[in-house]
Amino acid sequence: LERLYSFMIRLRVPGGFFTPEQWIATHHIAGEHSTGVIKITTRQTIQLHGILKSHVKPTIAAFNAITLDSIAACGDVNRNVTCTANPLQSPIHEQVHAYAAKISKLLLPKTHAYYEIWLDQERLTDKKEEDDALYQDRYLPRKFKIGLAIPPNNDVDVLTNDLGLIAIIEDNQLKGFNIAIGGGLGATHGNAETYPRLATVIGFVPADDRLFKAVYEIVTIQRDYGNRSDRKFARLKYTVDKYGTDWYRQELEKRTGFALEDARPYTFNDRTERFGWQQDHKGLWHYTLFVENGRVLDDEKVALKTALLEVAETKKANFRFTVNQKIILADIRKKDKALINGILEKYRLIQHTEAASAIRKNSIACVALPSCGLALAESQRYLPSLLDHIERLLAGHELSTEEIIIRMTGCPNGCGRPYAAEIGFVGTAMGHYNLYLGGDHEGTRLNRLYKENLDETAILRELDLLFWLYKKERITGERFGDFALRQRWYKP
Ligand code: SF4
Repeated sequence: LERLYSFMIRLRVPGGFFTPEQWIATHHIAGEHSTGVIKITTRQTIQLHGILKSHVKPTIAAFNAITLDSIAACGDVNRNVTCTANPLQSPIHEQVHAYAAKISKLLLPKTHAYYEIWLDQERLTDKKEEDDALYQDRYLPRKFKIGLAIPPNNDVDVLTNDLGLIAIIEDNQLKGFNIAIGGGLGATHGNAETYPRLATVIGFVPADDRLFKAVYEIVTIQRDYGNRSDRKFARLKYTVDKYGTDWYRQELEKRTGFALEDARPYTFNDRTERFGWQQDHKGLWHYTLFVENGRVLDDEKVALKTALLEVAETKKANFRFTVNQKIILADIRKKDKALINGILEKYRLIQHTEAASAIRKNSIACVALPSCGLALAESQRYLPSLLDHIERLLAGHELSTEEIIIRMTGCPNGCGRPYAAEIGFVGTAMGHYNLYLGGDHEGTRLNRLYKENLDETAILRELDLLFWLYKKERITGERFGDFALRQRWYKP
């Protein structure tokens, strides 16, 4: 008898956009082939878990039928390109979103193997190696992540990417992008030579062909200079720190044949979602839904999956996934708003969104146990109940409305970006977490290790004391992360 292997599929969805037809199909694919839960990931795409081996091929074929694929959603290539999700953010949202799709396409591997293996398409070549000018015969030393942000909102956590592109808007026009390189959050417990890092801004490039040239060559430099002897040090951040940002910029200019301009000023002031109904500059309506840890399912609290199917079946709303694991029902015309609102009311999704506390709305948890083989501790199955306790502590200190960014992962790999949170938990063993404090609200500063290996009782004891001090001694308007840093709440 063969073992009962099961798999996970992650889609490539640049900028996190689904048509209603794609959502309907995904709903049914999840029901037929996976556990049924649709997981919105921290890279703005979806994952389905628990796909038995015999279901893998039909799953991929079903996604292919709705023009979705999982090419480069995993592996040592450029991964899903993220982009500010909410069209409300700016009149140039559509323009920037299109760049995300173009960059995703530009950096796709050229191999046809996916179609041959999974979709039974004809072999196009008998050559052992296919021509791929970018990945050649060796791909990248490790995964590569790109994100595009439209200031002042940094919902994409742009500086946590290997390559962050920060849109520069002047006179209401997109002028180009500041280029930031070397972000990445993965680390290894007990290995001080591994570390999370935020990307460093190295210059500006106009929004024309030079942007694509620069993006492409940043990847080729990492391909040629990245560490291939130890995967722990193979991300771009280690290449940048080994050779220096000046060297990287010079090498980039040599390869592109043009000089980067100096970085232009920008400001981030937020990373949070605009929950509820919002209208954009074109008069279209968008509803941002609270989805706890990105898990779309029907449970005892809310029939979210059924409700979203009903919304999709109206064909009046697109689906946009955010990097914070939430869903925006988007691009709804004024005349259709009442229809969508009626469905949200019927399934109590408006109440569900409004009832979520400020800290819960700003929480992220990675998959962890039982689905992720690297997990050392629980994450998405545990954070909701830990938040019940934390909410009680905050209420006790009259801090319930504080929008504290809190994140948890089951291991130091950092998929849920815990090192860029105001309160970050990183699993060390079953029921135990390292506690990190002092990240900022805008995503421009990493937090620091405060206490190690805490169980739930210790976590709550620590937070109770910290919230008490915060309430008592903070300066007016001071964020929790800023206060934690000012108080030097970190290990020396
Ligand atoms: Fe990523 Fe680690 Fe969470 Fe697995 S347990 S999803 S590797 S952060």
